[in-house]
Amino acid sequence: MAKKKKWDYSPAPESKQPAAISRRYELFINGKWQQPTSGSYFSSINPATEEKLSEIAAANEADVNKAVQSARLAYEKYWKKITPAERGKYIFRIARIMQERARELAVTETMDGGKPIRESRDFDIPTAANHFFYYAGWADKLDFAFPNKKASALGVAGQITPWNFPLLMAAWKIAPALATGNTVVLKPAETTSLTTLKLAEIIQEADLPPGVVNIITGAGQTGALLTKHMDINKIAFTGSTEVGKIIQRTLAGSQKKLTLELGGKGANIIFEDAPIDQAVEGVINGIFFNQGHVCCAGSRLYVQESIAKIFIKKLKDRIGTLLVGDPLDKNTDIGAINSAQQLKTIQSYIKIGKAEGASFYESDCALPKKGYFCRPSLFTNVAQSNRIAQEEIFGPVLCILTFRTDDEVIEKANNSPYGLSAGVWTDKGSRIFNISKRIRAGVIWANSYNLFDPTSPFGGYKESGFGREGGLQGLQPYVQLS
Ligand code: NAD
Ligand code: MN
Repeated sequence: MAKKKKWDYSPAPESKQPAAISRRYELFINGKWQQPTSGSYFSSINPATEEKLSEIAAANEADVNKAVQSARLAYEKYWKKITPAERGKYIFRIARIMQERARELAVTETMDGGKPIRESRDFDIPTAANHFFYYAGWADKLDFAFPNKKASALGVAGQITPWNFPLLMAAWKIAPALATGNTVVLKPAETTSLTTLKLAEIIQEADLPPGVVNIITGAGQTGALLTKHMDINKIAFTGSTEVGKIIQRTLAGSQKKLTLELGGKGANIIFEDAPIDQAVEGVINGIFFNQGHVCCAGSRLYVQESIAKIFIKKLKDRIGTLLVGDPLDKNTDIGAINSAQQLKTIQSYIKIGKAEGASFYESDCALPKKGYFCRPSLFTNVAQSNRIAQEEIFGPVLCILTFRTDDEVIEKANNSPYGLSAGVWTDKGSRIFNISKRIRAGVIWANSYNLFDPTSPFGGYKESGFGREGGLQGLQPYVQLS
């Protein structure tokens, strides 16, 4: 039953015009757009409207072979031979063109993936460009990154990205690979290939030597073919833990280097001395940012018992004000769920949570008739052993647990197969150091959540994967040190 809205906003939709999406996209191999050998294409839709946006080439084994071969040739013929400073210039040029085409990229990202335009415009696209700027700077300074050592490129890197931050993940992967002198074959996720294909256009426009970056599109099988290819030196993967394990098995016994950035179940910990209103905002941002399609989302909330009642009340009030709807509307807080399949997964976890005996609360906002949407929600009375507290939901669903002491919350936070991220909210600096030292997670935010910067490394412990992306540490997986 829909209650009356607390207030009405006039719609403020962004125009679709700047996206300039082509009817069809081919494979970007050896600096040229090439038709797929199989002649087959798949559709990418807009999850907010269920409209087809474009047709995208499906790469088969012959195409994967062609792309890897062209990356190898480009490595031997051009990329290995040019000076590091020259490499830096190319990367810098990519960043500049991304900035010039920022609006086009933001609108495309929002239409293809469902995230609010405010996020693609103010976060995804600028942060992706900043990644290229940052790694452009490292290209000719590798001697300083690895003092007293010589860093050499590995060769050809095969990279596979997920659908939650399509362009940003492509930037996280391509920028450090190029800076360290590797060439690339990258496969984006099948529901969100468009901004990566536009990045291929940008790479063409930046006049990179042909084959230095190849973009091949397709579903999981295309990714699997890439991981199996014998002439690849390194695989970088971001996605589900399940596929991460498959890739690990594929690579076992080979010489390929591997980095995996997988799922998470971030513990966001609120102590009674935390600034309550700021913490409420931080929790909201931690879980509802990008529809909860965030591997480092603060999806497990631990609130100290003494403030639990007031904190949960404030969270519920705030959830009631979040605007769910048209991702192209600048007012929208929560856009569309990326795919019908992901929406089904989220809905099935909501059922599981209810069956496990947790109490469910959701916003009473109206949802658009078309498209894949989900109200922001939370569970209270959650037990540590519940599936909703242990497994990744990857949607706008928060699980709330309580604790009394520091030791107790550390034990609970660490009781997870994952270890990607955590948050700690408290007035005491000593407590921040104590907690963050003892929590097994790659990124721990203090009195904040979901902040990113190209200079800061990102990556997990345990089943959240290994290896770091971003920062000086992000160069390491792409070099051989001697
Ligand atoms: P996924 O792991 O299946 O897909 C990620 C990428 O891997 C895509 O490009 C996909 O085409 C490719 N892929 C699929 N199977 C492959 C294989 N056998 N070999 C090589 N590449 C393969 O993830 P998904 O199905 O899109 O999402 C499922 C779950 O993954 C989500 O519910 C969420 O829990 C998690 N996820 C995590 C992240 C993250 O950032 N860590 C991102 C997206 C999804
Ligand atoms: Mn799409």
